[in-house]
Amino acid sequence: MEKIFDIVIVGGSIIGSSIAIKLHQAGFLIKLIEMKTPCRFINNQIPDFKVLALNNTSIQFLREINVWQKIEKKFYTKFKYIETWKDPFFPIYFCSEILNKSKLGVIIENYRLYQELLNVISSKKINAQYNTYLKNICYLPSENLWKIHYDNEKTIFSRMIIGSDGQNSWIRKKSGIPYLSFQYNQACMLIIVKLKVNNKDTVWQSLDPTGPKALLPLYENWALLIWYDNPNYLYELQKMPNQKIEKKIIENFPKKLGPIHLYKHKVVPLKFLYGYQYVQQGLALVGDALHTIHPLAGQGANLGFRDIKILSDLLISVKSEKYTWNHISILKKYEKKCRLYNTIMQFGIDTFRLLFSHDSILTENICNPIFNVAESSKILKKILIKYASGIF
Ligand SMILES: Cc1cc2nc3c(=O)[nH]c(=O)nc-3n(C[C@H](O)[C@H](O)[C@H](O)COP(=O)(O)OP(=O)(O)OC[C@H]3O[C@@H](n4cnc5c(N)ncnc54)[C@H](O)[C@@H]3O)c2cc1C
Repeated sequence: MEKIFDIVIVGGSIIGSSIAIKLHQAGFLIKLIEMKTPCRFINNQIPDFKVLALNNTSIQFLREINVWQKIEKKFYTKFKYIETWKDPFFPIYFCSEILNKSKLGVIIENYRLYQELLNVISSKKINAQYNTYLKNICYLPSENLWKIHYDNEKTIFSRMIIGSDGQNSWIRKKSGIPYLSFQYNQACMLIIVKLKVNNKDTVWQSLDPTGPKALLPLYENWALLIWYDNPNYLYELQKMPNQKIEKKIIENFPKKLGPIHLYKHKVVPLKFLYGYQYVQQGLALVGDALHTIHPLAGQGANLGFRDIKILSDLLISVKSEKYTWNHISILKKYEKKCRLYNTIMQFGIDTFRLLFSHDSILTENICNPIFNVAESSKILKKILIKYASGIF
């Protein structure tokens, strides 16, 4: 009979790679299957578009698996403040001191983190197979095993499958897990700029009726600007020469941005996805495969890290129960611990987005008082920031 793995992880991006390392360290026999060939590190002169704001809980997980320690400090920025407003006269400031921390999180290009994950995977000799396409998966109840076919009729068996294969998850579709999904009528333009003055400890976002405008400070004087707006408008905008786009940015972004030099830009469509079910017998979904959220609060990867922390801790705690650790009744505990938190985050962000995406007298009468109350209430701020930091 072919080799039997404890867990096959499908999708080897940041979330899949991280849980593979954690479970390998705990002694599970792992195989990681990724359909793309991993792109190797290129120390780009210009920062990459895919940038993540990671909270302290995600960083702690990456420390536990000995990855965070390996990332060069000069390539990430620690932010201490988040500032957001609908009306610049009613801003809310969140400061890390409210949590007695020196920072709220860090901003890092996705590929720098991914690179270190790949290095750890190869140095620990974790069984990772890239450029590999799954053909079929089939659960064999009598043996309590998954039979997995990939590439040219290769077959392996596994006690469990973890689907970390992103928003178009093949595992989610194949296992018949129901989900709700739609395309937002909003897209975002990611813009890499150099700033004259880079206030690296502050992330800010202005909630304009056509969509938020945000700044994420990067290393040196680099920054990522995110311009959310109507997709048609943004696709038209991106056809313009850089000089014109730069002018439009100056006109549309808050004055506090200051002078910029635009280096590159790209429009990204935005999708919502909500999985109704997290697990099946011997199968669990994590990360974007389960919940793809609007990026305005920078929470997508943080939710994924929270999922894998809870799932891996659970699996490690039941590992000694030889034949039952992959049982649905155990995996349901993971679903129970994550579902409410993820649901509140996902729908909370959308409610917030909808509430602030209008410019009527009604919203003015609601939004400004909300901001006023939130700004003056230390308790409310603490609850919100604890939630965004994954502390609950
Ligand atoms: C504009 C924007 C800004 C964002 N900013 C932030 C932020 O500031 N903070 C934050 O926390 N999050 C942010 N996010 C969200 C974050 O990028 C995602 O939540 C995160 O990258 C999801 O990781 P993942 O590993 O779950 O999925 P993915 O990164 O999508 O990885 C899925 C992997 O599975 C592989 N795969 C797919 N199908 C198969 C298959 N059949 N077989 C094998 N492999 C397969 C893919 O090749 C891929 O490598 C942002 C998102 C966007 C769009």
